[in-house]
Amino acid sequence: MQPLSFESITVEEIDLPFLHEKKVGCSVLHIDKIHPVISGNKWFKLKYYVEKAKSIDKKCIATFGGAYSNHILATAAAGELFKLQTIGIIRGERPTTLSLTLQQAMDHGMNLFFISREQYANKTLPPEIRDQEQFYLINEGGYGIKGAQGAAEILGYCEKENYSHIACAVGTSTMMAGLITGNLPSHEILGIPVLRYRTDLEKALDELLSPDAKSRKFQMIHDYHFGGYAKYNAELISFMNDLYKNTGIPTDFVYTGKLFYGIFDLIKNDFFPAGSSLLVVHSGGLQGNRSLQRGSLIF
Ligand SMILES: *Cc1c(COP(=O)(O)O)cnc(C)c1O
Repeated sequence: MQPLSFESITVEEIDLPFLHEKKVGCSVLHIDKIHPVISGNKWFKLKYYVEKAKSIDKKCIATFGGAYSNHILATAAAGELFKLQTIGIIRGERPTTLSLTLQQAMDHGMNLFFISREQYANKTLPPEIRDQEQFYLINEGGYGIKGAQGAAEILGYCEKENYSHIACAVGTSTMMAGLITGNLPSHEILGIPVLRYRTDLEKALDELLSPDAKSRKFQMIHDYHFGGYAKYNAELISFMNDLYKNTGIPTDFVYTGKLFYGIFDLIKNDFFPAGSSLLVVHSGGLQGNRSLQRGSLIF
């Protein structure tokens, strides 16, 4: 298994006519490049859970996710890399053919258990693994203080003082909490949720922030979820293809495609004052595109 490569993290400036016209700078922080399987933000979120599991001598980590989850695959690969067994507790009945994500997780040694959607909603452990002594349990999506603590290190890989606004995609809000914590107090973090408006998302974020971090500048903009988690339309796909054509940046339809679409739309609608300098966090997730129909994307 290939080691993590933090040297691969780069900052790339995007050069497109509408940015000049609006006098807004836009750069991309590529944390997607740290590992071919443990994509982008998922390692940062897992780091302190893995450390904790090791420190209390657990031999196994377990976590929850859906059939296409980047977090499930990242956990499987991180387990292989750091010599921990892994258990994936998957939402829904076991399908006859596993998704590519789950197949790949199994190839990295993950043990999969399937639970019904109702059981999943309550995070009921399957009977085979009720004995929690056996493993260290990580929340769905790595949500939690330790996840945010790891994500707080992301901005250590760029000159954060250069950016008036830093933008990220939001699933559980763990990465956003980390970015707020790791950012300079006077600069703003923008989160683009990829789920349909959920009032509890702001609350979930709030619970991960220290009193000091709560007083910083940040906001979620709920206008770019495209109908909900993993929902998309032709406009999003064609935006992603155009982005790739014009900048060479590949995105995924679940997270980063919606993030770039949202940020570009906000720039075009004068959301950012002239002179703003944006950093968009490319958090990875490209493996998710394998669930799209072949040929939809040009990359
Ligand atoms: C999981 C994921 C996110 C969302 O991160 P949260 O911490 O759950 O909000 C964003 N981008 C990509 C590519 C992801 O895989």
